[in-house]
Amino acid sequence: MHATGTSECPLRVAIVGSGPSGFYAAESLYKAAVPVRIDLFDRLPVPFGLVRGGVAPDHPKIKTVTRIFDRIAAHEGFQFFGNVQVGRDIAVDELRRYYDAVLFACGAEADRRLEVPGESLPGSHTATEFVGWYNGHPDYRDREFDLSSEVAVIVGQGNVAVDVCRILSKTVNELKDTDIAQHALEALAASRIRRIHLVGRRGPVQARFTSQELRELGALEACAPVVDPADLELDAASQAELEHPDNKHSQKNLSILREFAERPPSDAPKQCRIRFLRGPVEIRGTARVESVVFERNALEGEPFHLWARGTGETETLACGLVFRSVGYRGMAIPGVPFDEKRGVFPNVQGRIIEGGSPIPGLYAAGWIKRGPSGIIGTNKPDSAETVKALLEDMPALPPCPRRDSLELARLLHERGVRVVTYADWQAIDAEEIARGQQAGKPREKFTRLEDFLEVCRR
Ligand code: NAP
Repeated sequence: MHATGTSECPLRVAIVGSGPSGFYAAESLYKAAVPVRIDLFDRLPVPFGLVRGGVAPDHPKIKTVTRIFDRIAAHEGFQFFGNVQVGRDIAVDELRRYYDAVLFACGAEADRRLEVPGESLPGSHTATEFVGWYNGHPDYRDREFDLSSEVAVIVGQGNVAVDVCRILSKTVNELKDTDIAQHALEALAASRIRRIHLVGRRGPVQARFTSQELRELGALEACAPVVDPADLELDAASQAELEHPDNKHSQKNLSILREFAERPPSDAPKQCRIRFLRGPVEIRGTARVESVVFERNALEGEPFHLWARGTGETETLACGLVFRSVGYRGMAIPGVPFDEKRGVFPNVQGRIIEGGSPIPGLYAAGWIKRGPSGIIGTNKPDSAETVKALLEDMPALPPCPRRDSLELARLLHERGVRVVTYADWQAIDAEEIARGQQAGKPREKFTRLEDFLEVCRR
């Protein structure tokens, strides 16, 4: 028997999840110049994870990263196994029989909960649902959002919250040339939302959105940002955070927020009100959302470790729609240890551990490894770290008994799974682009499984 990682016996790696961390892991493996075969699995029939289903349609530049992913997919010894859900169509233990190493890059698909009464009322949605809906994600394609009221509240102040705010604020004219799903464009065209509250539980210095995204809220066609100058008054600890020479992030945000606060009243048809130090305590309504009760917060703790404490003073914001944008959470896969508290696969430098010891051959990268933080580029060094661990372990990894991906493809076929290959995806891609051209958009996505499979059949 040859050692794994030689030309006679290339290392066989399954990567589960075809978002940025999965592709960057593949890239790191190819760069290592070890003979390797990579099969990239995704439960969806299309690759790219959040680049396709999460990045906002009006941020096309960010999506150009898929050109790099295409180049990675063009490597010899790369196969895409789309439309295959690991843990459902094939168990993790089965997969391990076909691969020397399984690297999970399956992201954080669930949401953190607010844990306040009324969270599940009709009209209260997670940002994930809305983002998936306007991005044509098959899971969320049929969600309905009642855009007939005038006021929407967004809880949370990360970049996802800003994306949601911007999409609600933009005119059809600002969105029509993007790859936004047609069903969403039509619904947003009829939206009556005029006032959007973007509410954070901590202060302006602690807000997580980045300055580029914040600045965009000040340059919309028909929506004006509104900031109450009183909200920008800082306590001593926040002031110390702000003045820290390395805290360019908050300094830029504060200067943009101050500029917003100084703007004269606008007669723009829509307003986006950015509010701070208000924590949601209840979502109220009888049949559906009617208001959100916020408690005014004060900050406690040391600079850079400030948390929000309720002051007991509450205020109620009447609204017809609530988006909870308080962060994602990883999901368990049967057969892999899961850290319930953090929503990640427990790991040390990407080696998945159980009872403190690494499980040979199981790895994690991206959000399922470190939690839902950072931008797309953050995943590159993160995946490289995991691949480094994998390659260090390689000499000791027992070679998997079944070394033929075709055999696995046949097994999946017997189970009624229609594996979508990269060539299939390229056909889908071409059709989506052609459909988009007719409407003056970069692409018109397919949004239903049967439509993807129909293109594959053709
Ligand atoms: P995030 O950046 O972690 O923001 C989550 C927000 O929810 C924070 O404001 C947080 O406040 C708040 N929050 C959490 N629990 C809460 C609670 N119980 N009550 C009230 N507020 C609560 O998460 P995200 O916006 O989902 O973004 C995820 C990652 O994707 C981030 O790294 C983001 O930068 C990235 N992303 C980037 C882009 C882009 O580059 N354009 C676009 C979208 C997403 P605290 O700070 O007080 O915890």
